[in-house]
Amino acid sequence: MIVAKFGGTSVGAIAEIDRAARIVQSMHNEKPLVVLSAMARVTDGLLNAGEAALAGKARERDDILWEIRGRHDQVILELLKNRATAESVRQVLGAVWEEMQKVFTGVSLLREMSTRSRDLISSFGERLITPIFAAYLGELGLRAQDVDARQFIITSEESEFMLVDFDETRKRCQKLVKVAKSGVVPVITGFICSTPEGVTTTLGRGGSDYSASIIGSCIQASEIQIWTDVNGVMTADPRIVPEASVLERVSYKEAAEMSYFGAKVLHPKTIMPAADEKIPIRIKNSFAPDAPGTLITAETPVHLHGVKTVTSITALMMVSVEGRGMIGVPGVAGRVFTTTAQHKISVLMFSQGSSEQHISLVVSRNDGDDTVKALRREFSSEIERRRIDRVLGVSDIAIIALVGEGMKGLPGVAARAFGILGDAGVNILMIAQGSSELNLSFVVKQKDAPRAVQLLHHAFELDALRV
Ligand code: ADP
Ligand code: ASP
Ligand code: MG
Repeated sequence: MIVAKFGGTSVGAIAEIDRAARIVQSMHNEKPLVVLSAMARVTDGLLNAGEAALAGKARERDDILWEIRGRHDQVILELLKNRATAESVRQVLGAVWEEMQKVFTGVSLLREMSTRSRDLISSFGERLITPIFAAYLGELGLRAQDVDARQFIITSEESEFMLVDFDETRKRCQKLVKVAKSGVVPVITGFICSTPEGVTTTLGRGGSDYSASIIGSCIQASEIQIWTDVNGVMTADPRIVPEASVLERVSYKEAAEMSYFGAKVLHPKTIMPAADEKIPIRIKNSFAPDAPGTLITAETPVHLHGVKTVTSITALMMVSVEGRGMIGVPGVAGRVFTTTAQHKISVLMFSQGSSEQHISLVVSRNDGDDTVKALRREFSSEIERRRIDRVLGVSDIAIIALVGEGMKGLPGVAARAFGILGDAGVNILMIAQGSSELNLSFVVKQKDAPRAVQLLHHAFELDALRV
């Protein structure tokens, strides 16, 4: 059995859905389980409609929702030639549509949108596309069944953060194994899941990749395929570096690092379930299915200069706690982390100078002001006594990361990187290296980020890379 996930652009319009369905048809002997994202831009649209409802802008809310409905109706009309099939899909979507209207009306009336409502709102995109896709596979002569992942992927109740209960999910997924083995293709909603009480929740934006690997690991698939709109994992984001090359092989560790540091092609959580079960992940282009794609496994060739990709994350804030009075005072770093944890702020990067005068962390820009406020409160008495001079937030910064297994034990990577950036006048605000020596990450001003990525890509000869 293989799991094949198609992203938003791969099911973004009629021609794309047709192409994706034919790819599934071509792998029919391998007993595929299909995982789908919402059509391109639908999840964004739903969330925007939610914001409009919250702001009391009913007209804007309805315009967005009708546009979403119109797109799906059009697909049904043009794609499904069998009238009875089209009619039954319309009925299924009609029920989803009714639920949507109730939820959005609720937000408009209450002028309130909790995390729970937001999750429910963003779940509709995946629920609208799977019935259409399953019906179309039927028209291509396959047996297919639309599957709501909320019945299968269950979160753990032990944590307030979203964690998947793999034992429960594995148990439930056995049903899908039976379906697939009987020759029926399950067409499963990506991104969404449910709590043990049956409340709708999601795996986070871009989370359909993670859905695929959760299901793949729970059914012991022979391969997890991520079908997207590029030829594979590339040496850099092709929108920043047009000459970026496709990597034929990447290790689980490299893929985890590069996705964590901004390579959007994979959701960062995708790797672990697959790596635990040693299931290969293959990234493929649904617009060019014959291209070999990227294979992600435990082992990988390394590159001459060690580095395989240059990635970046923007929209961040760097927060520093500074003061000479911190020297030798135990527990400052501990209190910084306790404070961020208490406020549920996720820290992307952390560094402390050896003189202990300076602790810096990087958080998402959305969490930036809260982080500064919380740390000022936490250290208020130290600030008053001048043991800490200040807690400072610097916005508009970016993290740049170099990733590659070949960097391990290879001297000169940092020198080459910082030399190039120094020559180009790009100022480096903070540096961190993972102890695994698999990545070197540093902070620059956001305006410098694209140029820094391009310079590094060139300096490590990644345009010519073929591994
Ligand atoms: P999907 O909708 O299929 O999940 P995404 O938009 O989430 O697709 O991810 C694919 C996009 O990721 C590509 O179009 C590309 O612009 C971007 N991307 C960023 N970094 C990389 C990288 N290192 N390799 C490949 N693609 C990348
Ligand atoms: N549709 C969801 C999103 O836009 C999940 C995904 O695309 O993977 O975030
Ligand atoms: Mg994606």
